[in-house]
Formats: sequence, C-alpha cells, structure tokens
Amino acid sequence: MATKLLLTFAICRLIVTVGLTLDPTELLLLGVDAQLSVDPTDVKAASLDFGLLTGAQPPLAVMHPASSQDVAQLVKAAYGSNFGFTVSARGHGHSINGQAQTANGVVVQMSGSKGGSGVASGRKPPHPRVWPQERFVDVWGGELWIDVLRSTLQHGLAPKSWTDYLYLSVGGTLSNAGISGQAFNHGPQISNVHELDVVTGKGELLTCSEEQNSEMFHAVLGGLGQFGIITRARISLEPAPQRVRWIRVLYSNFSTFTRDQEYLISLHEQPASQKFDYVEGFVIVDEGLINNWRSSFFSPHNPVKISSLEPNGGVLYCLEIAKNYHESTASTIDQVHICTYCTQIQLSLWITLLYNPKSMDFVFLFFGTLVISFNVLNSKLWLMTEMQEVESLLKKLNFIPASVFTTDLPYVDFLDRVHKAELKLRSKGLWEVPHPWLNLFVPKSKIADFDKGVFKGILGNKTSGPILIYPMNKNKWDHRSSAVTPDEDVFYLVALLRSALDNGEETHSLEYITNQNRQILRFCDEAGITVKQYLPHYTTHQEWVDHFGNKWDRFYRLKMEFDPRHILASGQQIFTPTN
Ligand code: FAD
Repeated sequence: MATKLLLTFAICRLIVTVGLTLDPTELLLLGVDAQLSVDPTDVKAASLDFGLLTGAQPPLAVMHPASSQDVAQLVKAAYGSNFGFTVSARGHGHSINGQAQTANGVVVQMSGSKGGSGVASGRKPPHPRVWPQERFVDVWGGELWIDVLRSTLQHGLAPKSWTDYLYLSVGGTLSNAGISGQAFNHGPQISNVHELDVVTGKGELLTCSEEQNSEMFHAVLGGLGQFGIITRARISLEPAPQRVRWIRVLYSNFSTFTRDQEYLISLHEQPASQKFDYVEGFVIVDEGLINNWRSSFFSPHNPVKISSLEPNGGVLYCLEIAKNYHESTASTIDQVHICTYCTQIQLSLWITLLYNPKSMDFVFLFFGTLVISFNVLNSKLWLMTEMQEVESLLKKLNFIPASVFTTDLPYVDFLDRVHKAELKLRSKGLWEVPHPWLNLFVPKSKIADFDKGVFKGILGNKTSGPILIYPMNKNKWDHRSSAVTPDEDVFYLVALLRSALDNGEETHSLEYITNQNRQILRFCDEAGITVKQYLPHYTTHQEWVDHFGNKWDRFYRLKMEFDPRHILASGQQIFTPTN
C-alpha cells in the first residue's frame, strides 16, 4: 500500500512536470510492488554520476528492485501508460555524461539494493549463484564485480575478463564492453557471458543466449542499455589464480613500445605458460604522473628520474604486464620449508639409526627420504619453471634496460588495485571531482600518428590523470554484439582519464581539459584517424549513426522491436522518448 502511495506521488509529480493529464485508473493499474522512493537523498544520488559533468538530473522517483519481476512491472507500467515516462537502469553510476540518468522518469537503482531502502521491505535481489561444475555464475544485473569475485573465489573460481576497477555493476559494464588487460586473451567481458535475463522496453522478461532469443542477446551486449534492463547474467569462470607477478617496464621509443605490446597480444593462441595473462600500458607525459593514482607501484623507495631515461619528445611509455600463478608462491615456499624441516628430521633419524640399526626402520626411512627429496625438488623446479617463463618472455622485449619494476601480490589485490588508489584520493578530496574522461579505440595502423599528434603534440607536457594505452585483438570481440570497434584486426584503447581540479592551474581546469578533448577528436578527424569512442557520448542523431556505422540499421531495427516507445536509458541521448 505504502509503495503504491509512493508510486502515485512520483507519477503525480511526473505528470505535473511534463504537463500531462492524469487518468487515475491507470495509476491503480500500475501495480508495482517494489519500493519506489522519492526520498531526496535517493533522488539526489540518482541524479549524479562519476563524471560530475552534467548538472544534476533529478529523476521523479528511484526504484530499488528486489527481482526481475519488479523491474518488469515498472517498465510494463511505463510502456502501457497513456502519459508515458522513461525508465533508466543505474548500476553504480560510474558513467561520465549522465548515461544512467533520466530527468522525467524513474531510475531503477540496480546496485546497492541489498543495503539500500529496498531492504525495508525485506526483499533483496538474489545473491550470486556459482555453478562449480559448469564453471559459470549467475548474478543479479546490479551486482558489483568485486562481489562477483568474492562469491566465485569461495569455489576457487573467478571470471576471466575484467575491468581495471571492480566497483562497477555487471549490467553497466556489459552494456558497454568491459575491458582490461585480459581482453587481448579472453575478449571483453561481453565475450564471456553465457546467458542473460532481460526486461525489454515493453516490460517483457526474456531469457536470451546464443541459442535462445539470440538477436536480443547480442544486441544487449554493448547495447548501451537501449534494448532492455539486464537483471541476470550468467558469466563464464575459470580456476582462480592465487598470486600475480606484476611487472612494469619503460620505453622511450613509441614504436618499440607498441611493437612489444603487439607482440605480446599476438601470443593469445599460445598455451598459458607462453604468454602473459594481462597486457596494458600507459603514457607518461610529465614526471608528476609517475607517482599518480595508478602509479603507486613506483614506490618512493624506488624513485624514477624521468630525465635520466632520456624520453623521446618528452614522453615515456610504460608497459604493464602480469603473470598469474595458479599455485600460490607463498604456499609453494611453505611447502619447500616444510619439506626442508622434514628432511632435517629425517637426517637426524638417519644419524640415530646409524648408531642403533634396525632393518625395518631402515627401509621406512629410505622410502621416506626418497618421497621428501622428490617433493623438495618438485617445488623448487615448479618455482623455477614459473620464473623462467616470465624471464624468457621478458627477454624478448626491448624496454630500457634497468627499468624493470616487479611486484608479487595476491590475485585479489591485483584485481582490486584501483580501489586502493580510490581510497587515497577520497581521503584527499580528489575523487568526487569532475572527470572529463575520453576513451578512444584507435586502429593499429594509425596509433603512431596518434602518438605524434596527441601524446607529443596536443597534450603538451601536463596532464592531470592517467593515460592508458593497450592493444586488443578484434577477433576476441563478437561482431554480432552492439559494441563498436575500429575496422582493423588490432586496435588500441587510449583512455585519457583526467580529473578537473580547481587548484588555480589552468591546465587542470574543466574547461581546459574539455577543450583539449574536443581538439583531440578534431585532430583525429582531420588526420583521418578513424577512432571509435568507447563509453561513447554524442548529442546529435547523425553522430550516433556515424558511430554505429554499418551496425546502425540493425541497432535501430532492434530498438523499434524491443523498446518502441524509447523508454529505456534515455540518458544516452540516442533516441528521444515518445510520449
Ligand atoms: P552506470 O553508469 O550506472 O550505467 C551505465 C549505462 O548502462 C547507463 O546507460 C545505464 O542505463 C546502463 N545500465 C546500467 N545497468 C544496467 C542494466 N542492469 N541493464 C541494462 N543497462 C544498464 N570500463 C571498462 O571497460 N574498463 C575499465 O577498466 C573501467 N574502469 C573504470 C574505472 C572507473 C573509476 C570508472 C568510473 C569507470 C570505469 N570504466 C571502465 C567505465 C565503466 O565500465 C562504465 O562507466 C560503466 O557503465 C560503469 O558501470 P556502472 O555500473 O556504474 O554503470
């Protein structure tokens, strides 16, 4: 009852706002069970995102769903109502340009409902369900990747493909692609999904996969939330490694750097032992950057003097690679220690036996010693083999000698590395600032032009955030998905992840960085560098048509089929809602 009252209140506000006439019978017919909130705190939270670029876009109400049915009821109500209102799923709100917002509608807060006001009703979204034999996990669309990881690790399993940061929702990253240093090998996260439950823009709940409703399945993956709200995703798993050897090496020559990166990703078909598990990289255009939020790796005990490395054109490039250990180094070392202790005990027994020989003890001791020696040898050999593989891969690279920075850490700490940086930035008040991020996919054939024009040109020698650069193999991306990539076998992600700071420095201001982003896009256009935006943001119809290129016709057709009233994800500004 309380829910219906809240809903009525929200809808009334909506109707007043958009100036539509109210048919009270329609409200009674809505019958939405889940908690709808018009609490100012909820509304404010749903009106902002990580970018902090668009002014607050307060929705009329926020829903905290506990099930797919809740979401379906709401969308069905929106679809069937005469006055029409929009519905936007919001994961963790880590978009940059208001993609998860909707001013004249309801935001479905998919993440955090477990701890949010949805709890008041005692109903919560389902917890991850791991299928160890089948090696997949079923997760709620709003589940954060960090929680997916925690659940699967209980079964010694983990998803294969990641984002650099784990406090993002499954539905949010699958609506884009979900990329990190594993993508060259496993493809983006959208290439590692078996099945989805999706609520269409008509309020229908569909299960889709390669075999079932396959058009919907492929459209939703990378579909920017346009075709449906993902309420469940079945994600592929692999045995979880326990530790990671994480290595960074530096280059002053761009073509040497990219040649090595491309070589490393070309090994994707090789057995696991003959390739790295993660290949990324970043650009260092000023010395300050080496100690920035993603670079805590270069410890103060090991300061890098960029000037001593003679960067070419003032720019250095850092290759970042990682090798997973499927057996814990620590436990192997422990095993070696235990075996060594046992050997010592055996030795003292041998000595005792020499003074007091008994034949049976002798046989027992002989075989015991044999087993223990084999174990010691085996553990030591195993460690040596792992290290040798890393060493032999490193030997094939042409980085600046003596610029190798290595660390060894638990797998979870490696995956969760950006969160540590987040906590540091939060403590300094540097997290909740505007983020005029620009993410581009650049074709391999033009990456050298991009380097000359952008890293060594437009950026100057000042940036205020990390600039990632790493290549991916296009054949790991399913061309049937809605995600858009350049038309070459290998393309690079260039992520300019800059923060705007109000610290009096012109180059750190929002206006300066935003202008520079525009300049970069203009440069690419004029230089014939056919980039595709990742996490795209456009404001005109023609820009969207150009972005999707030969995928547009299908994208448009499926939108008309699954969300004909353009109710969903209007914050992307691809389609205008029809009332
Ligand atoms: P939101 O911002 O809440 O939503 C994004 C879009 O998806 C919206 O249009 C929304 O309507 C839609 N959506 C949300 N949930 C659903 C759902 N269940 N069903 C259908 N549509 C839905 N991306 C990478 O690929 N790799 C990275 O390494 C990476 N690192 C990042 C680090 C940080 C610090 C940040 C802020 C972002 C990063 N991103 C990265 C980008 C991130 O993947 C996207 O911004 C993603 O959309 C964020 O997920 P979210 O859950 O916050 O989505």
